[in-house]
Amino acid sequence: MIKSAPYIKVLDESIVHLIAAGEVVDRPVSIVKELVENAIDALSSRITVELSTAHGVISRIRITDDGIGIPADQISTAFLPHATSKIRTGDDLLSCLTLGFRGEALASIAAVSYVTMVTKPKESETAVRFRITGGEVVEHTETGAPDGTSITVEEIFFNMPARRKFLKSLQTEVAHITSILESFACLYPGITFRYLVNGLEKFSTHGGSDLPDIFRALYPAEAGMMIPVRGEDGNTLVTGLISLPKLVKQNRQRFLLAVNGRLVQSPAMISAVKRAYGSLIPGNVWPVAVLMLEIPPAEVDANIHPTKREVRFSAERKILDLLVRIVRKALDDADLLFLPVSTDENTQLFLTDISSPVPVPAGYETIGIIPVARQVCEATLAGYRTTSRQLLQTRLQDNAEEESVRDERFPDLFWIGQVGETYIIAGDKSGALFLIDQHAAHERVRYDQLKRQESQSLKTQELIAPVVLNMSPSEAGLLPSVLPVLSDEGFIIEPFGQDTWCVRGVPIVLGRYEDPQTVRELIGTILSEDEGPVRLKEQVLRLVACRSAVKAGAVLTPEQGMDIINQLSQATDPWTCPHGRPTIISFSCQDLAKMFKRV
Ligand code: ADP
Ligand code: MG
Repeated sequence: MIKSAPYIKVLDESIVHLIAAGEVVDRPVSIVKELVENAIDALSSRITVELSTAHGVISRIRITDDGIGIPADQISTAFLPHATSKIRTGDDLLSCLTLGFRGEALASIAAVSYVTMVTKPKESETAVRFRITGGEVVEHTETGAPDGTSITVEEIFFNMPARRKFLKSLQTEVAHITSILESFACLYPGITFRYLVNGLEKFSTHGGSDLPDIFRALYPAEAGMMIPVRGEDGNTLVTGLISLPKLVKQNRQRFLLAVNGRLVQSPAMISAVKRAYGSLIPGNVWPVAVLMLEIPPAEVDANIHPTKREVRFSAERKILDLLVRIVRKALDDADLLFLPVSTDENTQLFLTDISSPVPVPAGYETIGIIPVARQVCEATLAGYRTTSRQLLQTRLQDNAEEESVRDERFPDLFWIGQVGETYIIAGDKSGALFLIDQHAAHERVRYDQLKRQESQSLKTQELIAPVVLNMSPSEAGLLPSVLPVLSDEGFIIEPFGQDTWCVRGVPIVLGRYEDPQTVRELIGTILSEDEGPVRLKEQVLRLVACRSAVKAGAVLTPEQGMDIINQLSQATDPWTCPHGRPTIISFSCQDLAKMFKRV
């Protein structure tokens, strides 16, 4: 508590550095990222990354390249904050094609660890060995070494105990590093990458390959399900690989986007690509993609965040449209049928025949003419599988428990059909007609199931990979007030720096819904729907029920439709969904007769 007026003072330079450094290198993977980027900028053709682990932490990171090296008289400058050889003036930012330009990485890394650099430009006779610990130069001597630069980082975050404490498990940190190195290997197929952990080679690539080669080497099981994309619009070129709709992931980790060789995160670009897939894939999964944009540097601004992972475009609309267009085209051109489509005349005729007269369901017509029939087929299959999974989840549970009782007020229904991909049409022996909202109905079933599970034992499950929430300042301001209730409900959420929180555990009822995006959305919704903590438990249940229920818009088979009907008939309150909307509407025999003015 501050009692008197505060005494305002400029921070010591050393603390300023430490704070700035913490932004650039927030965890081991960012050290690797920055150093590999430096090696790439140094025109290396071979880059080797070695990790050592000890006592549950990453004890050493070493990156060796065969690039241009740093002249002896400039090494200490390179480690000063804002020292760079890559730009000179503000204008240079507009034409900058290197990955680095802020001159912050070496200084930041040196501020939070012990760094040893050995570097030798081709022109120099000898190499220099340079050591700097926590920002203090402790050695600057001549030595012998091959051309290029090797930089070793130890005692990472030795002077930032809070940061050390919030590092995730060793496995998670290493996994992040592996994944970013795979990304670099994909984006720079011309460079030979070697990656070793504790002396064991995790992977290596052969420089001079192309993206499909590298992809095949890294992900052999998936390579066959990737299709190439390529397209340009004026001075913007997009190339890469995207997955067929049958290959999707539960999170965005395998969705690589690069702008001028720099890995970026761009929700707008991701949603453009998802828009292009349309209903070929369900809404809550992501395709696998490596998409590389080449665009004049003047049209993109990477200088938004110290980690340079955010970008802005001056012509964003144009770029997003281009992405949608080329991804659609690639999907159009690809064989989406499971059966190989033969090129013989009969088959072609057949495809043309069914695609023109058959009315195209809403949402598919934008994709093109001939492949429509094939795409409907694929979309239906993918949707069918999702629906079956969702139904299985609620069915398994019931079998495991004692025989559920059927609500005897519930009519004995048979399947007639489905309209609008949303409503089940059913009938009973009395001649009544029933319309059932498939989503509302299954949501009710799932909600009841969650309610039952909730009263059972254990409430929390730890996430395999904790989810970091970067919140808007307003959300971050709200969070502490609902934190006690959230933790009562089984969330384990810890502070992780300014406006950033780390979710380590979620309520057990979330089941397998531990996809980071879902956790993020869930917490976002809870925070935005300011309903007060009392109703929080309800909210969590409803949200989860809604997320995991069969979707409106899913085409059902008769068996799936009957499954929903049967599951609903066993619900404690089958008539409404958890939000209070009706699940089933009936027209008795008399109602129908009246409507047709028979009585
Ligand atoms: P930036 O990459 O933004 O310029 P860094 O702090 O990462 O800033 O690096 C500072 C400078 O050190 C670079 O501009 C470059 O001249 C030099 N440098 C860093 N790493 C290497 C390397 N592996 N090979 C050659 N020069 C390097
Ligand atoms: Mg750099």
